[in-house]
Amino acid sequence: MLLSSYKITRTLPCLADPEKIRVIAEISGEIHEVFPYLNSILKGCIYNHPALTLTIKKDGKLLTLHAHHITLAKIEDEKEAEEILEYLKNLINETYEKRDQIEPNYSMAAELKALDIYRLLPGTSCKKCGELTCLAFAVKLVGRDIEIMKCTPLYTREYQEKCNVLVELLSAAGYDVPSA
Ligand code: SF4
Repeated sequence: MLLSSYKITRTLPCLADPEKIRVIAEISGEIHEVFPYLNSILKGCIYNHPALTLTIKKDGKLLTLHAHHITLAKIEDEKEAEEILEYLKNLINETYEKRDQIEPNYSMAAELKALDIYRLLPGTSCKKCGELTCLAFAVKLVGRDIEIMKCTPLYTREYQEKCNVLVELLSAAGYDVPSA
């Protein structure tokens, strides 16, 4: 068994959604050996082999596995966190047991580009975010130097569809973002 136990050690407000919590759990041993196998069998996860992290998107939650701990974002309460940790424990152990039958996948998810973000911004360069242009905002956003909420026009009805897509894209790439 690769992961025999876990313990919630910190509960914080969620950066992505202030009404939810972010949970950090310490784990019994190193689990990164299973990451390339999970990366192979799970769709849409984000594997960073050099950093030894794997982010899984599940039911709108972001579950990030590190070698020695697990972080959960957009969680309702500790009860839900415990349920998710139990799910992850089973997933990790079952996948590890079957690893001989799985082709490991070491590839990383395609990196998000500033231009991908720019195309989903209003494109008016209105400066409300404090940046001179939407492209400058996109560059900062991809570098995690500014938060998406600073672009207030994006959260208006006019750009709702773009906003939904951008939030989805950022979440899939492992960024902490609020729900649109
Ligand atoms: S607030 Fe939004 S629309 Fe205005 S410049 Fe910044 S990124 Fe562009």
